[in-house]
Amino acid sequence: MRRDHRLSRRLFLSELGRRTLAVTILGATVAACSDDDSSTGPEGAGSSAPAGDDAATATTGSGASAADDTANDDQASDAAALRWERADFGFVSAYVLARGNEVAIVDTGTDGNGGQIEQALAALSLGWADVDHVIVTHAHGDHIGGLDAVLTAAPESTGYAGSGDIDKLSAPREIVAVDDGDEIFGLEILGTPGHTPGHISAFDPGTGLFLAGDAMITENGQLAGPVAQFSDDIDLAEESVKAIADTPVSTIVVGHGEPITDGAADQLARLATEL
Ligand SMILES: [Zn+2]
Repeated sequence: MRRDHRLSRRLFLSELGRRTLAVTILGATVAACSDDDSSTGPEGAGSSAPAGDDAATATTGSGASAADDTANDDQASDAAALRWERADFGFVSAYVLARGNEVAIVDTGTDGNGGQIEQALAALSLGWADVDHVIVTHAHGDHIGGLDAVLTAAPESTGYAGSGDIDKLSAPREIVAVDDGDEIFGLEILGTPGHTPGHISAFDPGTGLFLAGDAMITENGQLAGPVAQFSDDIDLAEESVKAIADTPVSTIVVGHGEPITDGAADQLARLATEL
């Protein structure tokens, strides 16, 4: 289908008004992605800023522009360089991305109070006040459980979710609905439905970083398809993987599993032929 990897449609600020949907469903239950997920989703309503004194386990990523601390220290010198950190919640991960002084968080973990995201921000010499964008790949509790707390802790940030999942979210303010072809923070948004109806992935053309959410997983260093047990429509989910198979990825990060930093494009192409 598509995928010329040019940013075909920009998300202009002027569009935000008409694209925004009010999110009012409080206490909505969300499906879990994993057996380990005991999150009940939007528990963070009204919570204070996440504290950093818990057993945070933020893990340093190794993106093309974030290979070492030296690069991190040089952030202001190259506004285009994308740096990223993984916030490891144990069985699920969120990611903090920085491009110059602009910051995006992709997914929010099970809750916003464990310190994992805050620690990832700190590893990039950033704090909550720096966060501009909060993108959730899909409305499962282990990815959106912290949405309320994160948006509360980062009051200037804008939240985004795929239009097909947006009515399942609970948030302290309006969430912007996005779809395939939109752009946020220089990231190309790819519609990857199936795991949930509105699942989205994000791709940074400059570095080849691909944020897959639960569109794919990794196991033992190998890229694998979405998990049928936790997917609304596994056939559609697998078609979504095939549709992105030629994306020129250099690194794939996922909700469940370790990042793929070596041979990511080859692994993606291989996986698409196996599904
Ligand atoms: Zn999921």
